[in-house]
Amino acid sequence: MANAYVERVLGELNEKYPEQPLFLQAATEILNSLGLLVEKDAKYEKAKILERFVEPERTIMFKVPWLDDNNDIQINRGWRVEFNSAIGAYKGGLRFAANCDLGMLKFLGLEQILKNSLTTLPMGGGKGGSDFDPNGKSDAEVMRYCQSFMTELFRHIGPNTDIPAGDQGVGGREIGYLFGQYKRIVNEFTGTLTGKGRAWGGSLARPEATGFGNVYFCQNMLATKDDSFAGKKVAISGFGNVSWGAAQKATELGGTVVTLSGPDGYVYDPDGVGTEEKFNYMLEMRASGRNKVQDYADKFGVEFFAGKRPWEAKVDVALPCATQNELEIDDAKALIANGCIAVSEGSNMSCSLDAIEALQEAGVLYAPGKASNAGGVAVSGLEQSQNAMKLSWTYEEVDEKLQQIMKGIHDACVAAADEVGTPGNYVNGANIAGFLKVAEAMLQQGAVL
Ligand code: GLU
Repeated sequence: MANAYVERVLGELNEKYPEQPLFLQAATEILNSLGLLVEKDAKYEKAKILERFVEPERTIMFKVPWLDDNNDIQINRGWRVEFNSAIGAYKGGLRFAANCDLGMLKFLGLEQILKNSLTTLPMGGGKGGSDFDPNGKSDAEVMRYCQSFMTELFRHIGPNTDIPAGDQGVGGREIGYLFGQYKRIVNEFTGTLTGKGRAWGGSLARPEATGFGNVYFCQNMLATKDDSFAGKKVAISGFGNVSWGAAQKATELGGTVVTLSGPDGYVYDPDGVGTEEKFNYMLEMRASGRNKVQDYADKFGVEFFAGKRPWEAKVDVALPCATQNELEIDDAKALIANGCIAVSEGSNMSCSLDAIEALQEAGVLYAPGKASNAGGVAVSGLEQSQNAMKLSWTYEEVDEKLQQIMKGIHDACVAAADEVGTPGNYVNGANIAGFLKVAEAMLQQGAVL
């Protein structure tokens, strides 16, 4: 059922970017869905829309020199991929991670275009970051790093041009240092970054938004089967910002979150990660920079499984919230064998392509991150609106809007999947629903992007 146009574009991409496997993986998943659309209407191929869609409008690459605590000079690399501005200014997070490279940021940027479109807010797609690892660095080192990074990035961004935010390794602390330096250089107080502190333009509910949004999305998926989170055992991976929000909301809706994980392994908490103390401990673990979930097992006296992933646990719902390709084919098989009914991605591209196929074939409800984790960037969009209006909404207002947006995304995915004859396929639904608006804008604006 491969579409010739899609095959050709994917073939060219594979030839051009063999060193960018994550980007090729994301592009393959997306273009395979879009094949169902472009085969129905020749206008896309005629206007070379797919070729244009997979190439970033602009990629900025720069050096980030900084002084460590020993006064030794260190050098890292920084990037900003300004991928697509058809429906709004570039918008997307910054990732600071040792393994970050251009291919990773292109995968994240490509996903971001569709994710942002799905939110229905006017946001284009972008992503940036650095191969700097904030784990184990002192506060002062992180501050100097962020300042040096922004000393180059500032000239490329702005409230109507490109609006960065956080991602892995970039949380409230880093956004603070980045914003401070940006404001100092441009001498303007604008909402150019999102995920800001409450006292200086940040939106209420932004910290919770990605995790909450993922649970709202999953709740909508479960409702299509007349089901809910009540009484469900839930596996969550990671212990960072997304996992923290998801654990709270899944608990509130009646689920029991039995796992968390880190690079060192996973913990199984039979009573559930469901108390204020445990949620707060997640924040403490994150702030410690140790990056070890074993600390949770030591603190609360639960079992720790070194070097293992949480997907071997018997659960009803899985919420991968750590990183890309954290749920592969053997993990999918284990979840299916244990009777898991839903997998909803909190991280971007959590599942490998063969894992997705296995889950879908087994009839597991599966939500791709570009749909289910769009709550974070959606509330970033709401933060921009509040900044532009110079006012701030209540927590309830923001949460209410977030719930509406997640339901809207869910329903748009269902409708688009039906439309192309693949009911219940949220991958096709998300890719097609997200793409339609962007493609329309590109066609109407001419060959400028
Ligand atoms: N990094 C988040 C994402 O993957 C949030 C981006 C934003 O708020 O701009 O969507």
